[in-house]
Amino acid sequence: MDSNYRIETKCIQSGWKPKCGEPRVLPIYQSTTFKYDNSDQMGRLFDLEDTGYFYTRLQNPTADAVAAKITELEGGAAGMLTSSGQAANYYALFNICEAGDHIVCSNSVYGGTFNLFGTTMKKQGIDCTFVNPDADEEELAQAFRPNTKAVFAETIANPSMVVLDIEKFARLAHAHGVPLIVDNTFATPIHCRPFEWGADIVTHSTTKYMDGHAMAVGGAIVDSGNFDWEASRGKFPGLTEPDESYHGITYTERFGKGAYITKATAQLMRDLGAIPSPMNAFLLNVGLETLHLRMQRHCENAQKVAEFLEGHEKVAWVNYPGLKSSRYYALARKYMPEGTCGVLAFGVKGDRETAVRFMDRLKLTAIVTHVADARTCILHPASHTHRQMTDKQLAEAGIASDLMRLSVGIENAADIVADLKQALDTI
Ligand SMILES: *Cc1c(COP(=O)(O)O)cnc(C)c1O
Repeated sequence: MDSNYRIETKCIQSGWKPKCGEPRVLPIYQSTTFKYDNSDQMGRLFDLEDTGYFYTRLQNPTADAVAAKITELEGGAAGMLTSSGQAANYYALFNICEAGDHIVCSNSVYGGTFNLFGTTMKKQGIDCTFVNPDADEEELAQAFRPNTKAVFAETIANPSMVVLDIEKFARLAHAHGVPLIVDNTFATPIHCRPFEWGADIVTHSTTKYMDGHAMAVGGAIVDSGNFDWEASRGKFPGLTEPDESYHGITYTERFGKGAYITKATAQLMRDLGAIPSPMNAFLLNVGLETLHLRMQRHCENAQKVAEFLEGHEKVAWVNYPGLKSSRYYALARKYMPEGTCGVLAFGVKGDRETAVRFMDRLKLTAIVTHVADARTCILHPASHTHRQMTDKQLAEAGIASDLMRLSVGIENAADIVADLKQALDTI
């Protein structure tokens, strides 16, 4: 029934469904464990024959209610929360990859994801080929190998603001019998629902707009349920063959559209344990209730700020997909007709020092390692988040050394513009 509601209603009403006499607001189930009346009931849970909670490392009712809301927002079949966006992206891939496998990833992804795929997962024997997301299909097809298991990209890349041609990437992935996994953190399901364009799995750093208030680090994975794991039999044995660590259960046979998420909770969460706390899941739910209102204001403000910066003589360039001058304007109009996000990238004329001087003169806009929350903030990737990357890697990822990432908040737009103006006037 929920899926008939419009997205604004889902932000408020999906997830927690109180029965008669139960709390109106999602309770914080601050309990590691759950009680049963007899031994057999508990045993059936361990066999995955009954559904129910037994230990919060695997599942918790507060987290599950929030996962259900995010799943509704994305239009998916099943979803789960993780302790961070990093954990979400790791689990999303490790759920279908193992040593000896290979993945294809856009080269313009978030720095943390770039390190995870390029360095840490490589140590586990999973190779990654980074590709230019703007390349044509013929060139992109060359990145695939017989052992490729997934394609990964971000809807709007952090911080290069590259907008993904989701249909192109979905076609490419499906032509090679693998799913497309999209990190939808920046657009949020308010502005883009990648499943509607052929993506199979969506991930989030809920730390950003979904939480929206910079309160709790968290992540989410949602499965569309559309990818046919059985069709590429042999490619995904973890899903289509018996799991010896779970009494020989075959996830696709037993759980259908829930196979991928059930495996990720029953196996990966059991063994790796990157769960969100019930308290953090609760805070995330509070954030989700206003996501639709905030995203609209973030975009209105960012548009005004981007237009102001573009018209300022001391600004060298501005990259915001909502500007007609953006090379991603057309893709943004197609995939996100109601707006993109509140983040934009720009550079001031001058050298690296000029950028640093500019940032240090800002008053309302804070220099913080964060993005996509209610407060306007700024970051210089070359000297902050991406400082481990070489100039060549930075350039390949579409990040100029003078690039500043401005995350426009939901304050009054005139106050944000005035702050930027006074800092620009003094450099
Ligand atoms: C922040 C971010 C991540 C990592 O998320 P954490 O919650 O910080 O672990 C992953 N992807 C994107 C696009 C991000 O912006």
